[in-house]
Amino acid sequence: MKIYDVAFVGMGASALGTYKLKYYNQNCSIVGLDKRFNNSRNNFFAFWLTDWMVPFQDLIKNRWNNWEFYQYQQKVVHESATTPYCVIRYQDWKNYCLENSQNISFKENDVIKVERKIDYFEITLDSEEKVFAKNIYDSRSVKIDGEGLKQHFIGHIIKVDAGHQISNARLMDFRVKQDQGLHFIYLLPLDDNHLLVESTVFSKYLLEPIWYQNQISAYVEEILNIKKYEITDTEQGVLPMFEINSQNEDKYVQIGTKGGSTKISSGYAFSFFLRQLTSDNKDYHSYWDKWMDKIFVKYLENNSKSDEIFMKMAKKLNGEEFSSFMMGNATFSSKLKIILAMPKIGFLKSYLRTIFT
Ligand SMILES: Cc1cc2nc3c(=O)[nH]c(=O)nc-3n(C[C@H](O)[C@H](O)[C@H](O)COP(=O)(O)OP(=O)(O)OC[C@H]3O[C@@H](n4cnc5c(N)ncnc54)[C@H](O)[C@@H]3O)c2cc1C
Repeated sequence: MKIYDVAFVGMGASALGTYKLKYYNQNCSIVGLDKRFNNSRNNFFAFWLTDWMVPFQDLIKNRWNNWEFYQYQQKVVHESATTPYCVIRYQDWKNYCLENSQNISFKENDVIKVERKIDYFEITLDSEEKVFAKNIYDSRSVKIDGEGLKQHFIGHIIKVDAGHQISNARLMDFRVKQDQGLHFIYLLPLDDNHLLVESTVFSKYLLEPIWYQNQISAYVEEILNIKKYEITDTEQGVLPMFEINSQNEDKYVQIGTKGGSTKISSGYAFSFFLRQLTSDNKDYHSYWDKWMDKIFVKYLENNSKSDEIFMKMAKKLNGEEFSSFMMGNATFSSKLKIILAMPKIGFLKSYLRTIFT
């Protein structure tokens, strides 16, 4: 019976990173188990170029020194020469992590059960095969159903033969329907002819795909005034806006979204699991960031017109302050600026709700 030193249960973004940064071609045997290992997923992972992301900068597909926010007639533009907003694509990440790897093999199976035995784990696959390993990293998808607030989105890459005139990353454009929760368009100009356009909603309930698709086409045609275009790729996701309590035990570690890497106020996770892997931090997020995020999400859950809050925050901070807040390394004074930008009564109520509900 072969017992691997390490099994990755789920071999997506965080497992790939954990393998590359901790185990790549080390003297140990590793198996990666993923029910969709060979799929063609190629989503974008966005982040601001903080110091711990610099080692990955050769993988960056696009970077923007300016990003913007829109609401009605208002526009806020941030600029940062030092921490641009960047994206890495999933397939580039996967190739980087696995290129020339020699100590890992893969099985494309659904993992049905992970059971602790005396000094190893027994992993049961959908094929009924059993795999044995001394250490487990588990990143199987978490269930994001139920009543909790979620960030849900569909994005299209569109090809505009005639070209477009957009040069800044557009993080939030609220000039769209607001009847299904807080809704905005996220838009990245990828090159002269391609845009990523995402319709994103913060709400408890998911919508039919056609809803997001209609919002994207309305935005492209009416706000961007682009009438002729072709959809060349699609990405979609549902991200938790609530804390995921990971259950780590001896030799069994939950990582990625399952391990709680998602910043619940924004959905960003990629840079957070890389920060944790490249530092001595045990947690993905600091105590104070989690505290602020929980209050902020409670506020979003219980108040409409939250687009105002995002615009206020964008106005109060400059590019460096905003990016550092989003990446979890804001100074005390930036955090204070954010707290002071928030409606006092609403936030006090939300704080109390985090304690009593
Ligand atoms: C479309 C999309 C865009 C995103 N964009 C950003 C972004 O711009 N910036 C950012 O910071 N974050 C982003 N995120 C959030 C986060 O970074 C990603 O979700 C990231 O992939 C999380 O990594 P993970 O390893 O936890 O999960 P995943 O990458 O989803 O990996 C989990 C793996 O487990 C496998 N699996 C699940 N269940 C089983 C099972 N029972 N048996 C076997 N295998 C199983 C899945 O097939 C999957 O490959 C995005 C998420 C999505 C979905």
